[in-house]
Amino acid sequence: MTRHEPYELPVTMKAAVMTKPGHIIIEEQPVPTPSANEVLVKVMAVGVCGSDVHYFEHGRIGRFIVEKPIILGHECAGMIVAVGEHVSRLKPGDRVAIEPGVTCGRCHACKEGRYNLCPDVQFLATPPVDGAFVEYMVIREDMVFPIPDQLTYEEAAMNEPFSVGIHAARRSKLAPGTTLAIMGMGPVGLMAVAAAKSFGVQTIIVTDLEEVRLEAARRMGATHTINVRHEDALTVIKEITGGIGVDTAWETAGNPKALQSALYSLRRGGKLAIVGLPSQDEIAINVPFIADNEVDIYGIFRYANTYPAGIAFLSSGQHDVMSLITDRYPLEETQQAMERALYNKSGSLKVMVYPNGM
Ligand SMILES: [Zn+2]
Ligand SMILES: [Zn+2]
Repeated sequence: MTRHEPYELPVTMKAAVMTKPGHIIIEEQPVPTPSANEVLVKVMAVGVCGSDVHYFEHGRIGRFIVEKPIILGHECAGMIVAVGEHVSRLKPGDRVAIEPGVTCGRCHACKEGRYNLCPDVQFLATPPVDGAFVEYMVIREDMVFPIPDQLTYEEAAMNEPFSVGIHAARRSKLAPGTTLAIMGMGPVGLMAVAAAKSFGVQTIIVTDLEEVRLEAARRMGATHTINVRHEDALTVIKEITGGIGVDTAWETAGNPKALQSALYSLRRGGKLAIVGLPSQDEIAINVPFIADNEVDIYGIFRYANTYPAGIAFLSSGQHDVMSLITDRYPLEETQQAMERALYNKSGSLKVMVYPNGM
């Protein structure tokens, strides 16, 4: 479909439903109708996220438990094909990135602008809220952001993990001149490198165990890569920074050892952002070191107010995020897409699902 062409909506659509962990079937469902403040989006690209894989494998993340069939997928973009009667800002034919957390707008967190902390957020693909592995979905109009022609749907979908990096960058006050270490080059880590580059950081040191991920990190703007299988991260970071340590370190892998090395990689007065979630609640951390060095620690939970900036950064042409897409599947093969992401963790960077054709 091209822009402004009249579009005949089908009555039913395909949806990839996870009936139980590890098992996704394709179901025929009615195409939803947008209510007054919603838009109907023809979903064009959905990235498989680590959280989707986690629900697929374990059926839960912390307090969120899969208790009934659920549709996964929350990194998504598409084209608006219908709008509710009160929607004026958007129209059919608009290509959009979808921010997946619909917030209440009324609580303290929302009013403060930190709506990622809204206790009533309805986040796509987080039980019991269905996600984006569908041909069509409705979402509140303020959660969709038009994208320019030069941005692909895949890039727009990747604005979601990119947003985490932007949020971490803002919270830990990245600026040109900052020296940064990022531990873990999974998809979030790789997009965090891109975010750091967007914020003008010239020294981006990254660590991982896999050469293919470090290679991708260099493409995203990492200036120094450390394979922690062969090298000691702290030794190399101290070397690069003339023995001082970095201004800021982010841990994105949820690995306790990586968190400790992120902390020890800091200069005195440095900043630590915790982006990845370790599987255990309590991990050993050197408290006197934190106090003695006046380390600032930032928890990072999703993101807020990042979509417009992310779209602008990704449209600037300075990022090659398309090169992170290693695997592509039609909606009918969502099961295979999830298995690919689960069993090929060292080789696959971003797995992409195309609900309306590839
Ligand atoms: Zn995600
Ligand atoms: Zn709220």
